[in-house]
Amino acid sequence: MTKVFLSTSLKNLTRIGEVTAGRLKKLGLTTVEDLLFYYPHRYSDFTRQIKIGEAGAGMSGTIEAQILSIKNIVTRYRRQSICEATVSDETGELKVVWFNQPYLVTQLKPGDRIFLAGTVEFDGFNLVMRSPEWERFNPAASIKGGVHTGRLVPVYPLTAGLTEKQLRFLMSQAIVVIPEIGEWLTDNFKFQISNFKFKEFKLLNLQTAIRNIHFPENQELLAQAQLRLKFEELFWLQLKKALTRHQIKTAKAPAIEFKEVEIKKFVQSLPFKLTNAQRKVAWQILLDLKKDTPMNRLLQGDVGSGKTIVALMAMLNVALNGHQSVLMAPTEILAKQHFATISKLLREWDVSVGLVTRSSKERCIKNKVSHLRPPRADFGGQASIKITDSNIIIGTHALIQENIKFKKLGLVVVDEQHRFGVEQRKALREKSEKGISPHFLSMTATPIPRSLALTMYSDLDLSILDELPAGRKSIITKVVAPDDRPKAYDFINEQIKFGRQVFVICPLIDESDKLGVKAVTTEFAKLDKEVFPDLKIGLLHGKLKDAEKDDVQQQFRDKKFDILVATSVVEVGVDIPNASVMMIEGAERFGLAQLHQFRGRVGRAEHQSYCFLFTDSPNQNVFERLDFLSQNTDGFKIAEYDLKIRGIGDLYGRQQHGVPEFKIAGLGDYKLMELTQNMARALVEEDPSLAAWPGVKKRLAELGGAVHLE
Ligand code: ADP
Ligand code: MG
Repeated sequence: MTKVFLSTSLKNLTRIGEVTAGRLKKLGLTTVEDLLFYYPHRYSDFTRQIKIGEAGAGMSGTIEAQILSIKNIVTRYRRQSICEATVSDETGELKVVWFNQPYLVTQLKPGDRIFLAGTVEFDGFNLVMRSPEWERFNPAASIKGGVHTGRLVPVYPLTAGLTEKQLRFLMSQAIVVIPEIGEWLTDNFKFQISNFKFKEFKLLNLQTAIRNIHFPENQELLAQAQLRLKFEELFWLQLKKALTRHQIKTAKAPAIEFKEVEIKKFVQSLPFKLTNAQRKVAWQILLDLKKDTPMNRLLQGDVGSGKTIVALMAMLNVALNGHQSVLMAPTEILAKQHFATISKLLREWDVSVGLVTRSSKERCIKNKVSHLRPPRADFGGQASIKITDSNIIIGTHALIQENIKFKKLGLVVVDEQHRFGVEQRKALREKSEKGISPHFLSMTATPIPRSLALTMYSDLDLSILDELPAGRKSIITKVVAPDDRPKAYDFINEQIKFGRQVFVICPLIDESDKLGVKAVTTEFAKLDKEVFPDLKIGLLHGKLKDAEKDDVQQQFRDKKFDILVATSVVEVGVDIPNASVMMIEGAERFGLAQLHQFRGRVGRAEHQSYCFLFTDSPNQNVFERLDFLSQNTDGFKIAEYDLKIRGIGDLYGRQQHGVPEFKIAGLGDYKLMELTQNMARALVEEDPSLAAWPGVKKRLAELGGAVHLE
């Protein structure tokens, strides 16, 4: 056999052909190292040694026995092939059966001594072991005890065509290479970073951890191995985040002085009193702006918590310092809405507000709107627009796409940040003068559970608006069973008679309907023809062009329709203060955080508002989940609950960028998340080039992270 290394391709291992290699590749495994870092998702406990004479139904463990007889039987029913054997030890005899493995009779012969692992059952007449794992006694094996029996046996996530037995066999070969795995967490490292209480955590060395994650010696070592590998996973994630964070903070930003008198005057001019949360967060931001390193902050606040005003205070302060701010929104209609509100709030100020979307370029100062007429310059062959005469520029993707330039960019704000990709946010950030990074503020209504704040957003500072303005009516939420549908329709009819409007949200009904055209048109036809033949109904789905989407929403706002049937595209959108009912079809298909977001589209004015969750699912769990939403209004609590029940993917919906997928760490590992975050940050702060820790640096490079070298 050729010698095996960590870097050896799995194709070159014995017993692996092209086909198996292809299947392993589907699991992301191409080298021996990949294999070693592929962890079981559970273990079967076959450690108990069972004597046949003492065996009882329900007992799990391993029996060491000799085969007395073995034969194949083909059942008449469905012609299933059963391999039946009788085995014995010095205390008794036992029946063993395997299904659909006729080749076993060529592998196992009477007289063979084998280990059998599984659960003993009673078939009505005899005790029997059904489809046990089996293996021969092999004194030369690389692993103490068995690979498939007599131990905590690993069970791996598989793909079609691979078997557990195959994977365990490969793993038992791969572990020979474990001594090659380098340890970066040296005693010296632990000593130097001694304030991190390593002792509390009992971290195994990496080699022992890898060996025990696959073939644990006992439960205790397994738990310790899991801890070390969770630590491993979280540490590298945190180190990458810490390096990004550091890289951003080493850039130069314009220091923005706090214009206290003016900002106070502005706050007093508002038609409402700021909430305490708004005050607190605005203060955090204003302090960040004073520094000459860029702010990198994420502002989270439920729908309606008043994020815009907070951003505006920052933008006004920047304008008063002679710098520009830009606010990017995900849709044209939202940008226009921000332009209108902000221009109005600043009408007493000598501050010019610009609007840049694909279809309009405007500017407003002291309530006077004029066409934005920036000089067009030929810039490296590409036409560009340089905006010099606006202090606050509000826009859409057009800001990036149309090669817009600014004169003195000090602050970038991105509204509904999850609607943009990393690249888009970065592109906007890079619009400042050479060598200067603007301050950066992202805003989102999606709640951020603690586990995600500690991992996914670990490179950012977080601010939370955890308070809604006073006097908001809470939205009455009801789960509607199929039988009550007519009642809900009657209620909707009534609301519309009172002059209100209604949203109807439809989930995507099949894979081919990515843009929701089918879902929405089917629902539209039903409502239009059968349920509400007298009402005017509008349609909104992903296939419409942006301008058309805006148009439909504008018409809804202008009361051209009573009902708007839409896909989840309506999640962020224009304010429709007159809408009082949010009706959601197939509610069980959405994450609770997303449902909560939809619900936030109503209840924006003085009318009591309602949210109806329709579901045809008879599943009790579905009901409980939806019922939780109807009982709770706190977006954060809702998100934590849903995260526990359904995991990350569903919480954020499919379009969310950068959600981490843990291999072994869990969302409850707060302590480790905190420990690794502190460690990584301290390490980077002390020595961002990691020169003192070549082991760490090498491993980071292997994991695809780069050190930023000053
Ligand atoms: P969101 O956080 O969802 O972006 P907005 O900034 O759009 O919320 O604010 C929602 C509405 O609440 C706006 O009409 C805004 O003028 C209003 N608002 C903001 N702050 C307050 C406050 N402190 N008191 C009352 N109304 C407020
Ligand atoms: Mg908003």
